[in-house]
Amino acid sequence: MIGILGGTFDPIHFGHLRPALECRQALDLQEIRLIPLKVAVHRPQPIATAAQRLQLLAAAIREQADFVVDTRELDRSGSSFSIDTLTALRAEYGATMPLCLLLGADAFAHFLTWRRPHDLLKLAHLVVMTRPHSAAVTEPALVALERQHGTTAPAALAAAPAGYIFRQAVTPLAISSTQIRQLIASSLSPRYLLPEAVLALIERERLYR
Ligand code: ATP
Repeated sequence: MIGILGGTFDPIHFGHLRPALECRQALDLQEIRLIPLKVAVHRPQPIATAAQRLQLLAAAIREQADFVVDTRELDRSGSSFSIDTLTALRAEYGATMPLCLLLGADAFAHFLTWRRPHDLLKLAHLVVMTRPHSAAVTEPALVALERQHGTTAPAALAAAPAGYIFRQAVTPLAISSTQIRQLIASSLSPRYLLPEAVLALIERERLYR
């Protein structure tokens, strides 16, 4: 079973890394694929270049062998739609490998605005990671989707290639890339919110000032 975490990673921080590691361990995922987006669909475009974000990601996971950076969205032209990424991963891993798309509860709240969300659930499970300050799901269609696809059994994920929605409680870390960029822009240190090696690169490249 494979874990997939897509994001802007502008920059990567402990709020990405720790919850992903906890999902890996709780669900016994073989690896976590971190997939930086090229062109955002539902949010402002990243500040750092693709090459810079890749460098930061590489620095963050250097000592974690089961975390890998996957550049397929950067290598593809045009908008970064998850459905295209999952279609490609499904082709690579074959029809039976369980694929788990990890996402924060804040991202899940907008899931039905994604391109072809129902088809996406045919390609992967959704693992929704608890995130502080994210609102409870109230949108009737999303509540219904979770009622239809929800499971509380990790074994169900391993037994099917796709189709379940599972909530994974993770250590709540109220860290965001926005907060880190704002601290730097205000000449305040973001130290201890992200790996030291990532901070060193940000300082060397004078990013987010
Ligand atoms: P920004 O502040 O620029 O919007 P972000 O910190 O939300 O960025 P992204 O790279 O956009 O980071 O997030 C990628 C994925 O990681 C999303 O699914 C998001 O919900 C999740 N995520 C980000 N931060 C956390 C966190 N602190 N706890 C749990 N999940 C998180």
